[in-house]
Amino acid sequence: MNHFTKTPNEQPQKMPRLSLGKNTCSKCGKDFIAEENKLAMPGTKDLESVICPYCGTYNGDVFINGIVFTRKIDQ
Ligand SMILES: [Zn+2]
Repeated sequence: MNHFTKTPNEQPQKMPRLSLGKNTCSKCGKDFIAEENKLAMPGTKDLESVICPYCGTYNGDVFINGIVFTRKIDQ
């Protein structure tokens, strides 16, 4: 018998869901702050990309009503 080998469903690469506040870059390992820049448009919650302010790497998404921006943590 020739059994059909079941392959798991291919899933689109899921990026982690981040939260506002302190995050750590998955690439350079530095800590940064993700902040929400609220827009005057209620009800527009959406996924916003979180970009490392040090190396520019996309780290994941936050689900917020506005625009996310990141800043370095000054030590
Ligand atoms: Zn980085």
